[in-house]
Amino acid sequence: MMNERGKIIIIVAPSGTGKSTLIKRLKEEFRELHWSVSFTTRKMRPDEVDGKHYFYISREEFIKKKDQGDFVEWAEVHGNFYGTSLGFVSTKIKNGFSLLFDLDVQGADNMKTQFGDEAQCIFISPPGIEALEERLRGRGTDSEDVIKLRLENARSELMRRDDYDYVVVNDELEQAYQDLRRIVGDILKI
Ligand code: ADP
Ligand code: 5GP
Repeated sequence: MMNERGKIIIIVAPSGTGKSTLIKRLKEEFRELHWSVSFTTRKMRPDEVDGKHYFYISREEFIKKKDQGDFVEWAEVHGNFYGTSLGFVSTKIKNGFSLLFDLDVQGADNMKTQFGDEAQCIFISPPGIEALEERLRGRGTDSEDVIKLRLENARSELMRRDDYDYVVVNDELEQAYQDLRRIVGDILKI
């Protein structure tokens, strides 16, 4: 008997919006969602674990994998490379497992082009640029240069907010989570 194919749920948000905080809760609640661990050339943050948050590889290794066709999508974001494993995605989807992704706008566009309505994108928006700056600084994980670059990129990412399937504003965290969990629940039932 053929399995029904799994769903692709993509969370997109400017850095500092609260995406990781919301995704952590989603993963705890929706145990049936499998998490796609991306490859990155970014340095590992102190609280991160190799193989859990990302697979951390060198630029040379990344380029080799890209040239071999190992990525279903990849992009340069804030000066680092990020890529999603083609093998992981195709095997899971084919076997009926639904996947949760954390991608930038380029990755979301790319997946939408390849998977059409099978990929549903949820854009998480901060209540404003000032709040975003406060959160990036408050998180305390990035240098001043990195914060500046991420804020600059956020301005162009925010202009894309109405281009996706759903938008959630992360002003008050609990409300944002309730909005997000309802959308994810709906997508999984489609
Ligand atoms: P992202 O993954 O989008 O880069 P994080 O989840 O790391 O963002 O959140 C950035 C910072 O903002 C963290 O310190 C987090 O605790 C905080 N934060 C997340 N959501 C909210 C919210 N609704 N109100 C205030 N601070 C928040
Ligand atoms: P961070 O360095 O804060 O973990 O992530 C920076 C940005 O890279 C975020 O917008 C995140 O969504 C994006 N990102 C993470 N993994 C991937 C991936 O595999 N592909 C793409 N296109 N973007 C990714």
